[in-house]
Amino acid sequence: MIIGIETTAHTFGVAVVDHGKILCNVRDSYTTEKGGIIPMDAAKHHRNVSETIFKKALEEAKIAEKEIKAIAISNAPGLAPCLSEGMKFAKKKAAELGLLLIPVNHCAAHLEIGRITGSKDPVLLYASGANTQIIAYADGKYRVFGETLDIGIGNFLDNFARYLGLGFPGGPKIMELGSKGKKFVELPYTIKGMDVAFSGLLTNVKQKYDALQKKSVDYTKEDLAYSVQETAFALLVEASERAMAHIGKKELLLGGGVGCNTRLQEMCKKMCEARGAAFFAPGNSLLIDNGAMIAYLGEIMFNHKIFFPADEVDINPRERTDDVQVTWR
Ligand code: AMP
Ligand code: MG
Repeated sequence: MIIGIETTAHTFGVAVVDHGKILCNVRDSYTTEKGGIIPMDAAKHHRNVSETIFKKALEEAKIAEKEIKAIAISNAPGLAPCLSEGMKFAKKKAAELGLLLIPVNHCAAHLEIGRITGSKDPVLLYASGANTQIIAYADGKYRVFGETLDIGIGNFLDNFARYLGLGFPGGPKIMELGSKGKKFVELPYTIKGMDVAFSGLLTNVKQKYDALQKKSVDYTKEDLAYSVQETAFALLVEASERAMAHIGKKELLLGGGVGCNTRLQEMCKKMCEARGAAFFAPGNSLLIDNGAMIAYLGEIMFNHKIFFPADEVDINPRERTDDVQVTWR
């Protein structure tokens, strides 16, 4: 049995996995009424909830501490204060229980948990808060075929939501607002090969929102939320389809918190149907940051003897998906 701890950004999550089976997946997330994530505050949130969430996870999994074989900890990439807090907690538990640590790359975990859907050899659309990449596995690495050239899709949605006075996380609120939109407002559409960009789109939609506040225009706030989703998700689906055609893959797998968006899922599905490919997405509790994906990949790594004494493990806030040596596949 492996226990996994996730703390790279907004979520403190703990889960237990046994032979690929998720026995529990407990979390507590930092949210705000108005602003975005303040890293030091998120870290403080993690410090406050860590013991309670850890205990709750053991209770839900119905296991004793001594049944745990090793501790998987998301050590990269992420917000440094949040990673540090998680690492401190993992090391404390490792010392208490006399266990080894498995350092898990958070992005790789978002991708590996997709295996639970039955997908075998997919192009991965990794649509997270800070990360947006089109990825496929080949020869010991996750290769990045396309990615955002500026901000992540989730940060983009959160930033726009913040501008509208909605708190963090903003993605679900934009989805809600957008479902009431009727009119499509043309917005900048930036794609270069398999790379996409959102900052021009963000500036433009903010200007359109400012105009709406000042004078009479023929669109509403709901129309803007709807159009933002249609435009940004079309970019992601176009880049994903290009990657699938280019490398000849017949599966698309969605990962990351923005993957919870039902409109994005619908657009991915339609594209896959049109080209005779299969579409896979894990459930929402495995898409948003969670401990289960850390424990799940942690167990695979443990079985490949990838674990270390606690003092040999450290955080790596900037590690990229394609920096990771995938020695477990
Ligand atoms: P992650 O970093 O993978 O945990 O994903 C967090 C991001 O997912 C945040 O930017 C959220 O705003 C975004 N998100 C969560 N649910 C939704 C949703 N239903 N639609 C769009 N974005 C979402
Ligand atoms: Mg994430």
